Amino acid sequence: MFKPPRSAYIHIPFCHRRCFYCDFSVVPLGDKVESIRGVGSRTINEYLDFLKKEILSIKHKSPLSTIYIGGGTPSILDPFQIKDLIDVFNSNYGIEDGAEITMEIDPASFEEKDLHGFIQAGVNRFSLGAQSFNDDLLKKAGRRHNLVDLENSCFWLQKAKSNMLIRSWSLDLIQNLPESNLDFWEIDLKKALKFKPPHISIYDLNIEDGTVFKRLLDMGKLNLPDHEESFKNSQLTNSIFKSHGYSRYEISNYSIPGHQSRHNRVYWKGLGWWSFGQGSTSSPWGVKFTRPRVSRAYKEWVLKQCEVCLEPSLNNKKEPYLDLDEKLMLGLRVKEGVNIKRLFLEQGWDERQTESNLCKLLEVWANFRESGILCNEGDRFFLSDPMGMDLSNQVLISMFSWWENIN
Ligand code: SF4
Repeated sequence: MFKPPRSAYIHIPFCHRRCFYCDFSVVPLGDKVESIRGVGSRTINEYLDFLKKEILSIKHKSPLSTIYIGGGTPSILDPFQIKDLIDVFNSNYGIEDGAEITMEIDPASFEEKDLHGFIQAGVNRFSLGAQSFNDDLLKKAGRRHNLVDLENSCFWLQKAKSNMLIRSWSLDLIQNLPESNLDFWEIDLKKALKFKPPHISIYDLNIEDGTVFKRLLDMGKLNLPDHEESFKNSQLTNSIFKSHGYSRYEISNYSIPGHQSRHNRVYWKGLGWWSFGQGSTSSPWGVKFTRPRVSRAYKEWVLKQCEVCLEPSLNNKKEPYLDLDEKLMLGLRVKEGVNIKRLFLEQGWDERQTESNLCKLLEVWANFRESGILCNEGDRFFLSDPMGMDLSNQVLISMFSWWENIN
């Protein structure tokens, strides 16, 4: 039997309100939420009960080396509730010594004492949803926090790291927000660097269906940076971060040495992971499964899952399974790239098939290789940095069409 995953994601769907760009599975509880008693507490506690039921429903448990508590806004919860979740893993799966336990936190939803509570609960890495240091842009994106909240949060995290209370922390920024420009972006990057976060994630704004931004875009009222400006933003990010000692170890992620996200590397390496909570996606043995996005449907699913184990992808398989195109896509996202020939042979193709399919793939990639977007050292292919990483979509799209053709 293949070994059970050593990583788990937990989704805490609660937020104060929905940001204008967000299409995640979230439950907005209003500004006055109080997780133990008062506004929203019943909803939260009921959800946590179902979450624990789901965590316990897994048959093949083994000790975890990474746990990621994401959302939503997990920092809406009380430290005691976070401890309770970590304890459930500890007593039922086991948590390895030195495991990475990350929690997402939102600048307007915690104080320094809460941060210490989360640390005492067992969290040793935090991911702060900064998004921007510009009050105006934050407001236009529907964020609840402002510059003061953000700077306080960064300061507390920096202090906790210096005092060795946590192993690491990460800061998220969104590139290409409406009304943003190169000057604003440069200020954002420099303000972020002032706090020396060991890890920084840069997400490109995507306009998703059903969001306020999509509605504004359709009405012609969303002023987004154009393609050329976005490209300049990416180049600026790259040059500023590199000059400060950060390595772009994945398309959207930078870190100083020793601070890469271990949990995210599990996804990019195509290793298995558990996930728990509404709308979350697990892939313990290669096959992905997404839980219902709406609370009521999720709770019904949990009850059935506990009764009859209706989701086959959560049961142990003889061998892990992941489609080749997905392995290639994940491999190309990381700095070191992927050994393509090895993947083809692992796929069960013989030498002749491997050579022939590789030849076809290299044909569709010819332009990217000529222009230096895609590089190789022997059979290991990787995107150049910054150009290849910034234009990765084009390489991936052509790879997917190759995959369709050879199938
Ligand atoms: S805080 Fe995060 S999860 Fe919640 S609505 Fe905003 S973007 Fe979405």
